[in-house]
Amino acid sequence: MPYSAPIVSRLAPTPSGYLHLGNAVNFVLTWLIVRRAYGVLHLRIDDLDRARLRPAYLDNIFQTIDWLGIDYDHGPSGPEDFERNFSQLHHLPEYQQFLDELRRQTGLLYACTCSRTQVLAQSPSGHYTGSCPSKTLNLDAPDTAWRAFVPPTTVVPFTDLWQGPLAIELARELGDFVVRKKDGIPAYQIGSVVDDVRLGTTLIVRGVDLLPSTAAQRWLASKTADTNSFLQTRLVHHSLLPGPDGGKLSKSQQQPLDRGIITESTSPRPVFAAVARLLKLPEEAGHSLEALRSAFETAAIS
Ligand SMILES: [Zn+2]
Repeated sequence: MPYSAPIVSRLAPTPSGYLHLGNAVNFVLTWLIVRRAYGVLHLRIDDLDRARLRPAYLDNIFQTIDWLGIDYDHGPSGPEDFERNFSQLHHLPEYQQFLDELRRQTGLLYACTCSRTQVLAQSPSGHYTGSCPSKTLNLDAPDTAWRAFVPPTTVVPFTDLWQGPLAIELARELGDFVVRKKDGIPAYQIGSVVDDVRLGTTLIVRGVDLLPSTAAQRWLASKTADTNSFLQTRLVHHSLLPGPDGGKLSKSQQQPLDRGIITESTSPRPVFAAVARLLKLPEEAGHSLEALRSAFETAAIS
C-alpha cells in the first residue's frame, strides 16, 4: 500500500447568516469523508468580517452541528470559547505577515481608494476596472484597500477529486480582488490560506460556487514559501442544491426572517437525503446519519 498522509479537513462556516441546507450538506459530506478516512476534523469559523457577525449566527453554527449529530476533533466548544481562543482576530499578525510577503513582490499588490459604489458603477460584476493601478498610491495611507493585480491571462490549474481537472481563469472570475480591506482587516482569501496552512489542512470540501476562491487562494499561496504547502491540499468541490425557485441558494440570498435549516426542518433527514442524492447513494441511505455513513463506506468518491 502506498503511504498516504492522514486527512486533515475542516468545517469552515462564516457567522454572517443562519446556516441553510447547503451549509448543512457541506458539513455532513465533509464529516463523512473525514470519518471514513480516520482523519482529523477541525471547526474553523471565519469571523474576519466582524461587521456582519451576530451572536445569534455564531450560536447557530454550534446548534446546527449538534442538530446534525456530527462531531469534530478540534476547535471551539461554543461561542464563548470561540471568542476567547479561536477568533481570527487572534491571528491578525500572521495574516499581516502573509500580506507583507505579498507586498514585497514587485507589482503584485496595489493600493485602491475607490469606494464600493464606484467599483460597482464601473463594472456591474464587481470586477475592478478603476484607475488605481496606474496611480501607484501609498499602501500605508489611511482608508486604502490592497488589491492583487491579476494578469489578464492568469489561469489556475488543479485537479479536483470530484470535478476532475480544472483550469480557472482568475482574471475573468474575480479580477483584481481585495486582499486587505480599507479598515486594514485582511480579506477572506488571506485568512483562509493562512488558517489552512496553520491547521495543516490536507483536504478542502466546498461547493462549486467557491471555485473562484479556491483559484485565488492557490494563486496567492504559490507566491510565498510559507504558504506553498497549501498547493498540496486535496480538493473536493461538490455541486450545489437547487433552491425553491430552481436557482442555487447562497447565504446572501437568504431572507431577513430566514432562521436557517434547523428551524425550517423538524429533523435533519432532508439534509441526509440531499447528501445521499449528491453522492448517488440509494434513497434509504438518506434516512439517518448512520445509514448514510454505512452506505458511504463503499461509495466511490475520493
Ligand atoms: Zn481603486
